[in-house]
Amino acid sequence: MDELERLARELTHSYFVRRDYASLEGMLSPAITWIGTGRKEICRSAEQAAEFFVQQQQVYGGGFAIEDEQYHVSRPAPDLGVVLAIVAVASNPSCDFFIRMQARLSIVLHRQKGRWQVVHVHNSAPCQEQGDLPYINMQAAKKGYASLELAAQSMAEQRVDEASLHEPLTGILNMEGFTRRADELRREEAAPQYVFIKFGINRFRYVNQTCGFSTGDEVLRSIAQNLQCFCGPDEACARVEKDIFAMMLRFEGRERLAERMGSLRRCLVSEELRRRIGFEISFTAGLYLPRDIRHEEIKHMLDKALLAMESSKGTGRKNTMFYYEPHMSEQKFLEEQTLEQAGPALERRELRLYLQPQVELESGRLVGAEALVRWHKPDGRVVQPGDFIPLFERSEFILKFDFYMLEELCRQVRAWLDRGLKVPPVSINQSRLHLRSAAYLSEFSAVVDRYALPHSAIIFELTESTFVEYGAETMALARQLHKQGFGLAMDDFGTGYASLNSLSRLSADILKIDRGLLEGFENNQRTRVVLKKVVEMARETEMISVCEGVETKEQEEYLKELGCDWAQGFLYAQPLPADMFAHTYLERR
Ligand code: C2E
Ligand code: CA
Ligand code: CA
Repeated sequence: MDELERLARELTHSYFVRRDYASLEGMLSPAITWIGTGRKEICRSAEQAAEFFVQQQQVYGGGFAIEDEQYHVSRPAPDLGVVLAIVAVASNPSCDFFIRMQARLSIVLHRQKGRWQVVHVHNSAPCQEQGDLPYINMQAAKKGYASLELAAQSMAEQRVDEASLHEPLTGILNMEGFTRRADELRREEAAPQYVFIKFGINRFRYVNQTCGFSTGDEVLRSIAQNLQCFCGPDEACARVEKDIFAMMLRFEGRERLAERMGSLRRCLVSEELRRRIGFEISFTAGLYLPRDIRHEEIKHMLDKALLAMESSKGTGRKNTMFYYEPHMSEQKFLEEQTLEQAGPALERRELRLYLQPQVELESGRLVGAEALVRWHKPDGRVVQPGDFIPLFERSEFILKFDFYMLEELCRQVRAWLDRGLKVPPVSINQSRLHLRSAAYLSEFSAVVDRYALPHSAIIFELTESTFVEYGAETMALARQLHKQGFGLAMDDFGTGYASLNSLSRLSADILKIDRGLLEGFENNQRTRVVLKKVVEMARETEMISVCEGVETKEQEEYLKELGCDWAQGFLYAQPLPADMFAHTYLERR
């Protein structure tokens, strides 16, 4: 067997089958460039390659089996070899997932002091258009280079460069590529005025959940392709995060831009794909118009576009676009300040437990309560959760905060029980982000158990959109927490996308109807019908229905008429500090 083929074989078997990274590393030149198939898999030294192999091992666990292998060797110079390895691999049956794929490795070897070393590897999935041509075409490479050795090296460098500027899933520019291209464009002699745009796909998680990840990928590819057609030669586009794209477009007035963005909306994904998915794919965009494009960092300009995009949060206006304004940076600064203060505030217990009673409509009896937070600032101000909870959610501080609140609640309930008070079940709001963690429920119940509370005393409250976005995870969590005796409430029903007939599958015990569904019920026939149907469905699926935000006697009367079970709202009480809640509701029972 040819010496180079033997070495290449050794490499593929160490890499795929034996996962023997130590012997693999022994073959590599210290200055190896290794390009893998994934986004971040670009290594520029043996050291980086070693790190990459460790990650690979974590991802794939065991090795693959090689089902078929072919090696094509060429020796463009006495001390230079190029081997194209085409290897069909499949995951081992013992593995908990199954993968079969064809890998195609271009391996460049260089002989130094009589010893062959691997100087470059490019692992790529074969592209059909390329047929069976070797990835590195030596004939083309020869032109313009003094030696083949230099040619191969330069090709390899070029490849590293290209791979690091493009994004593997869609093939369009990534952040780094965009930054370079934007920098070129703005330096052009007669550069026009530009606008920077970032846009995120609305409900992309939902697309993945309902249509599957491969359809999600198709959506991204289709958008990328259409963006490329949409942009002119002196414009740029890129995919900069999972579902976030960036553009640098000529600016010819707001009206013209609005027109263009409108046309982009209409052709964002291919017609065929849209039909297959069954709903519209839309986006929310932020725009930044730089005053002095040459003197501001590209990254900062994109950050401002992102701030503008994020300003849509909480406005309910999604399918639209927002121009950056300076106050957004100030807002961002204030938010960062708030987050900085949040950690110490937990330690000083400035975030306090409030409770809002829930009453049974028929009897007016207290049947439950919801834990809600208020931030008591050292200067005496009391800040409402709407001003910091969304921020906690965006920064993931919510994960810590929710456990803090759980602890506060458990401590309080324990104290009440120790005083012999009868305490109804209390529901506690939990962020959707917990659903990503496998240890979540056991950590949660460990806290409850530390205070020796019966599990029936605590109810998890997750929003309707969590049920939709994390369907499978919520279902699994529901099963587990029911087993352990906790209750589950679906919060804010009527604000998201859960359909009425999906209710039966949602496995919640309590359905909390959002106060939005009450709005205008007095003179809106449709609202009345919707509310009625929701209550009926809750009853049929054996959920307790609770209407939130009940403020008037008329609303109460109507809910009673419908047969809604419980109510919560200012008509009965505002959220009260824990001791006042106890005083008003528990000590008098
Ligand atoms: P939510 O879970 O939907 O809580 C109900 C909100 O409705 C509360 O707002 C409550 O004060 C308000 N509310 C109750 N009755 C009425 C009424 O009759 N009319 C009107 N207009 N509003 C009423 P709040 O306390 O400002 O909380 C806002 C949101 O912040 C909560 O919405 C919840 O999503 C979040 N939140 C509050 N406390 C916590 C917490 O401890 N942990 C987590 N993760 N989120 C929390
Ligand atoms: Ca709630
Ligand atoms: Ca709610």
